[in-house]
Amino acid sequence: VALPPAVALDDRFARELPEMAVPWQAWEAPEPRLLALDEPLAAELGLDAGWLRSPEGVRFLLGTAVPAGATPVAQAYAGHQFGQFVPRLGDGRALLLGELTDTGGRLRDLHLKGSGRTPFARGGDGLAAVGPMLREFVVSAGMHALGIPTTRALAVVATGRTVHRETPLPGAVLARVASSHLRVGSFQYARLTGDADLLRRLADHAVARHHPEAAAAGHPHLALFEAVVAAQASLVARWALVGFVHGVLNTDNTTISGETIDYGPCAFLDAHDPAAVFSSIDTAGRYAFGNQPAAVQWNLARLAEALLPLLHEEEERAIELATEVLGTFRGRFTAAWSAGMRDKLGLPEVVDRAVLDPLVDDLLALLRTGRVDHTSFFRTLARAARGDAEPVRRSFTDPLTAVGFDGWLARWRALGPDADAMDRVNPVHVPRNHLVEEALVAATCGDLAPLERLLEAVRTPHEERPGLERYAQPAPAGFGPYRTFC
Ligand code: AMP
Ligand code: MG
Ligand code: MG
Repeated sequence: VALPPAVALDDRFARELPEMAVPWQAWEAPEPRLLALDEPLAAELGLDAGWLRSPEGVRFLLGTAVPAGATPVAQAYAGHQFGQFVPRLGDGRALLLGELTDTGGRLRDLHLKGSGRTPFARGGDGLAAVGPMLREFVVSAGMHALGIPTTRALAVVATGRTVHRETPLPGAVLARVASSHLRVGSFQYARLTGDADLLRRLADHAVARHHPEAAAAGHPHLALFEAVVAAQASLVARWALVGFVHGVLNTDNTTISGETIDYGPCAFLDAHDPAAVFSSIDTAGRYAFGNQPAAVQWNLARLAEALLPLLHEEEERAIELATEVLGTFRGRFTAAWSAGMRDKLGLPEVVDRAVLDPLVDDLLALLRTGRVDHTSFFRTLARAARGDAEPVRRSFTDPLTAVGFDGWLARWRALGPDADAMDRVNPVHVPRNHLVEEALVAATCGDLAPLERLLEAVRTPHEERPGLERYAQPAPAGFGPYRTFC
């Protein structure tokens, strides 16, 4: 089906890296129905929301009507899954429709998930269910509203096809937007082919799209690696500050852009706990909340290995160069994390790390021992900065931890915290697990109202909203332990 030429989709990835792109097409959907559309994002992309809601627009969102000149492809990549290397993963149930230039002049991938089997599907059915696609829609909307780099969800379309998981479920396709879908696994794939020219073209493509300043550096490919290390260190610090647990930090889910990608078994902390794991398949806790910086650093070491031939002709020297850059990850993460915690605590910059770091460490130990709700704590703490310490003191129910917290509170107050500044950075609304679950269960049964209310809440993360009070509350006592599935 031909579409109006107004939708101009480029095929830059497929043109520049044909070895990593298999032209493919999406499956037809028996009974398409648009469930969710991010209208401001559509506008950013120069797409007319009214048209996207039309039958033709919905076919565009399903990939079954392709604009003239576009070449939808399944992308090839490799990946370490829970530490095990898989040389050929790739888009098993996804397609890159092409790249759009948005109204700000930026190149954005338009990508589908759940659009049918591809040559990379292995044993999979190529499909996705309504619930998980709406989870990606709402959680990525929340992350974006929090200012955290992320892929975006443009739309979810129910297909009318049944997807068989543990039970039969309604199927859906997610239309996703990203600054690209390049990942550590893309570089692992290119390296494994042994084709030095492909690896170089991939690195140049990544520099041009994400880190153009690296092109002007003395060593552009080393500068690319450094830029990815910096972007990922900053990203994982942002996750830590808001209590986000990605759930499946395999190398194919670590982007080159530094955007959060692949909202599968993700969750937000309720009680603060570095050992928190929600994914049903992460039985060893490899991707537990507190392990995320180490997991991402491990993935970046795999990126370094893939890049070695581009870093220096002598392998030993290449390893030295890569190791030096990788060694900056910890410091970059800690700097971003400390600065973020200073802001969450409303403290001025004159409070230096020698005072701040032990204050933060002691607080986190108290939060963990007291099993205090991560998100609510910082909002309630701001009230203590305004003189009302009772609500935050009540967060600690066990007498010993409560005494410890009183001591901590006195130390913190002596540093002059700014309550208004705290409220600007500490969210009231995050996509809390019990709320996401409630919204997805209702949507799967055909009721979209809870999802729409939750979207309204998470799109204004820092604002208390009349009528949405329950979206600001911690999970009820009876909720949990929470388990997520991908
Ligand atoms: P993920 O864990 O979501 O990052 O996916 C890992 C790999 O499994 C990717 O290559 C996916 O394309 C593939 N995959 C996941 N689910 C399916 C499915 N239902 N059908 C085909 N491939 C899938
Ligand atoms: Mg993935
Ligand atoms: Mg996934």
